[in-house]
Amino acid sequence: MQIYNSLTRQKEEFVPRQGKKVNMFVCGPTVYDYSHIGHARTYISFDVIAKYLKYKGYRVKYLQNITDIEDKIIAKAKQENKEPLTLAKEFEKAYYQDVKSLGITSVYKYAPATKYIKQIVSQVKRLKEKGFAYEIPSDGFYFDLKKFPEYGKLSGRTTESAEDAVSRIDESVNKKNKGDFNLWKFSKPGEPKWKTELGEGRPGWHIEDTAITEKHFGEQYDLHGGARDLIFPHHEAEIAQMESISGKKPFVKYWLHTGFLTINGQKMSKSLGNFITIRDTLKKYSAEALRFLVLSTHYRSPIDYREEAIKSSWAGIQRIEEFLRKLSNIRRLEVQLLSGAGEILLETRKEFLEAMDDDFNTPQAIAAIFKMIKELNPLLAENKVDKKSAKKIKKLFEEFNNILGIIPRKTKKTPNEILDMIDTREKLRRDKRYSEADDLRRQISSKGYQIEDTEHGPLVKPR
Ligand SMILES: [Zn+2]
Repeated sequence: MQIYNSLTRQKEEFVPRQGKKVNMFVCGPTVYDYSHIGHARTYISFDVIAKYLKYKGYRVKYLQNITDIEDKIIAKAKQENKEPLTLAKEFEKAYYQDVKSLGITSVYKYAPATKYIKQIVSQVKRLKEKGFAYEIPSDGFYFDLKKFPEYGKLSGRTTESAEDAVSRIDESVNKKNKGDFNLWKFSKPGEPKWKTELGEGRPGWHIEDTAITEKHFGEQYDLHGGARDLIFPHHEAEIAQMESISGKKPFVKYWLHTGFLTINGQKMSKSLGNFITIRDTLKKYSAEALRFLVLSTHYRSPIDYREEAIKSSWAGIQRIEEFLRKLSNIRRLEVQLLSGAGEILLETRKEFLEAMDDDFNTPQAIAAIFKMIKELNPLLAENKVDKKSAKKIKKLFEEFNNILGIIPRKTKKTPNEILDMIDTREKLRRDKRYSEADDLRRQISSKGYQIEDTEHGPLVKPR
């Protein structure tokens, strides 16, 4: 299996550190607001990656942090006149609801930063003892970038340019180097604080991840994921922290990053008014449609979210459901694989695995599924598939769906009568008999169903 490693900037054979064991960590959200569909993109991608690794027989431990103490949380709490930790708890709960409704089930543990203060303090202390961290009185502890010459090896930035990119959250005129990042902040009045050996304060952002992973995985582990915009400075800082503490390299063997998500070609932001939360999306579309949309693009490529794109995904799911419904209706009992249905199955599994083994190429894997449907549909139409073969085909779908999660387990059924009318309309359209097709569309509409034609075929919705 080949995986693209951001650290080496190339595809590499995936070989975990210890046999079949895979320790995997992905940066979780800062819980000061509802999660948006950019988050959904990242978390769906890594859910599928973890599920595929499990499918391949790896024993995956997938851990995610929750940033439940941070400047943004404190600022939002102030605005809403709430306690920061109370506000964080509310949005932490909302996040768990969101991931559940998205069918994200592969994470074995969510680790909120405030539960790891002891480990965080221990890491800062060790960094200080080894000379990597220094204190600025009445400010906090900082990492001294001059002591870690390899800073920039993940993002490809040099120390000089890294220093130029002053991190917004860690501005302090008294830092030794411009790019030095914060490890521990001494508390200001009214802010949440912990009484520790470092002084009263709260953790910086980057240190929570290495403290959490050291506790659960040790000094080194297999796979670290996150959104692309976290590479610098966040992931770079993680490497500096942990490799300085342990003296062992590499801290993480494989680094995986998801591409950006834009809305109608624009960056998502509250000021542009195009901020779309997961829960708002799920009021209109199913989780499966959103998953299908995300997985139709390779996880490293950018996605442009458009209304037409999610409708087209929904239509794609309907194609699969319609196919599965046809399989369920098969009554032929002869035990035989007719007209090469068996070969089509073997070929499809092979193509699916090849796609997924090539850096989790989900669009290719989905294409293999649609190719199979296209090849099997004529056999179904000619009544050439027996019940036993149908069962095998459905089983293969289940196998794929356990990884991708794009076919709803329970669906609101469109009546067979309507589905037959839609089939007929498609045939008419293929034969360019458009006015008859339009008549049929009106008939379907009068029965309470609406059709929209999309890239993946017609989308049927109750009116
Ligand atoms: Zn992180």
